[in-house]
Amino acid sequence: MSATNFDLIVIGTGVTGLAAAKQAAQKGVKTATVESLMFGGLVININELEPAPPGDQTSGTELASTLMMEASELGVESINETATGLTREGDVCVVTTDGGAYRARAVIVATGAKLKRLGVPGELDFEGRGVSQCADCDGPMYKDEDVVVVGGGDSALQEAIVLSTYCKRVHLVHRGTQYRAQQHLMDAVASHANIKPVWNTVVESVTGEQTVNKVRVRDLGSNASREIPCAGFFAYIGLEPACDFAPAEIKRDEAGFLVADATLSTAMSGVYAAGAARAGFGGMLTDALADAQTAAKAVCGALGK
Ligand code: NAP
Repeated sequence: MSATNFDLIVIGTGVTGLAAAKQAAQKGVKTATVESLMFGGLVININELEPAPPGDQTSGTELASTLMMEASELGVESINETATGLTREGDVCVVTTDGGAYRARAVIVATGAKLKRLGVPGELDFEGRGVSQCADCDGPMYKDEDVVVVGGGDSALQEAIVLSTYCKRVHLVHRGTQYRAQQHLMDAVASHANIKPVWNTVVESVTGEQTVNKVRVRDLGSNASREIPCAGFFAYIGLEPACDFAPAEIKRDEAGFLVADATLSTAMSGVYAAGAARAGFGGMLTDALADAQTAAKAVCGALGK
């Protein structure tokens, strides 16, 4: 096990983590990031950022790449390992990973959130063979085909609109009778003739042969089941935090998101939670950047930088 010392370890290199690491490093805080996957987080799936962030990046990939480059130029060290634990030993925090253990005076948990699964038969079996979580990346594969999108929030509506530019028809299956999305997204959905709302309906299964060819749904009013022939299936039913490694000492809300105070400090001394892993996170890119700033400022204050 290696024991490397930093002032700050940021776990997660989505927009929040990268921006926090960059801002702390600018103040002379010796910073490392820990990330198991590619940097960028969920934002790299967004082709056109709206509203556009400060600067001239228009896509999520551009924004994440710029932040990564800036952090690296400021000396932020990248540790490409999976965080598996977080403990406190005296006045230092210890982040354990699948590759070692790293000590720091402060830790920012910025691991974000991941899309929840519906949990219906076939969903995991057809992953990558018709079941997708990225409309921007996989939409062109469904050109002139029918697809099913599940959910009634901002994500489902936004991704249905993206898919409507490629697909013949988008069946927008929602268990409720009204969306809980921003008005401009509801208006846009209503104005796209090839988005077909399917209200009051739940998905029972995803089926196919080599790839998805139908989705079985059930109308909650009549209890009648039917099949929707389609080539693609996208569930956008909300998010869950991606921080299984975080100890019980850090309080969580009922959905599992990490509870933090106004400075983004958690119940575990020296540990901060920022971005989509945090309870009460606003959900917008501007909120991610604001969280990064708040957490970095709090860490710098605590470290006397
Ligand atoms: P969300 O707001 O939590 O909406 C989840 C939707 O999925 C709801 O309509 C919910 O139905 C439905 N749902 C939940 N569990 C389900 C299940 N087991 N079976 C069927 N349907 C289920 O999630 P989200 O749309 O991913 O948005 C997450 C956050 O990101 C929000 O704060 C949102 O505003 C933000 N966001 C913003 C933008 C933007 O500003 N452009 C874009 C995307 C996301 P009910 O309504 O019946 O509960």
